[in-house]
Amino acid sequence: MNKAGQAAPDQAAALRERLDSVNARIAEACRRADRSESEVTLVAVSKTVPVERIRAAIESGVRILGENRVQEAAEKIPALCETSAAGNVSWHLIGHLQSNKARRAIELFDYIESIDSLKLAERLNSIAGEMGKKLPVLLEVNLGEESSKSGVTEGEALVVCERVARFENLSLRGLMTVPPFLEDLDQVRPYFKRLRALREEAIGAGIVGPEFRELSMGMSHDFEVAIEEGASLVRIGTAIFGSRG
Ligand SMILES: *Cc1c(COP(=O)(O)O)cnc(C)c1O
Repeated sequence: MNKAGQAAPDQAAALRERLDSVNARIAEACRRADRSESEVTLVAVSKTVPVERIRAAIESGVRILGENRVQEAAEKIPALCETSAAGNVSWHLIGHLQSNKARRAIELFDYIESIDSLKLAERLNSIAGEMGKKLPVLLEVNLGEESSKSGVTEGEALVVCERVARFENLSLRGLMTVPPFLEDLDQVRPYFKRLRALREEAIGAGIVGPEFRELSMGMSHDFEVAIEEGASLVRIGTAIFGSRG
């Protein structure tokens, strides 16, 4: 980083190249799946990435950033507010949120993708109400039932959807998942299919509103498969920012 707090020019160029390549791969996956590119939105996951590189990403056209920890976001988001393009940037929380950080999370983030319990939804609804906000959220489903991951189980998902959809100060936009990490993409694909089927079930059961359409699924190693299976938000970190080391 130089005195002006900018990423070194070669670093910024490398980042732009990786971003272009990710965007091209998204476009190609859309073509293969016969989907319009406008149906897929990139969330650039900037956890552990220093502020100057996030700034370079914003200057290269990134418009949605994802962070997984409130504490880290509280240090980075205010520092990026002065970036000229940052006014058009929105921030998504994609990691587990502790109840006691809910208020800070609503102050910092525009969108919460990681609602993993009814209790958390209740708390966010009540704070959003106090703040006069309507907060867009996704319900996270732990399809692999891995203890290391958060999210409601597939079995609970519809019941929780129905309750969350009724909260006045939340706008339940859809579902999110982080499937088990599997090298073999053919083994990941069924998880994406299941999330999509869950969305169709919720819509079919008439328990969610018209804004319930999003499927946030797909990361650096599997986003193309996720797009083929209907992802509308892809959360991509290392393919844009490089390895987190
Ligand atoms: C870190 C993270 C990502 C991005 O992962 P990459 O493999 O770096 O693309 C996506 N979603 C969640 C929930 C994450 O924590």
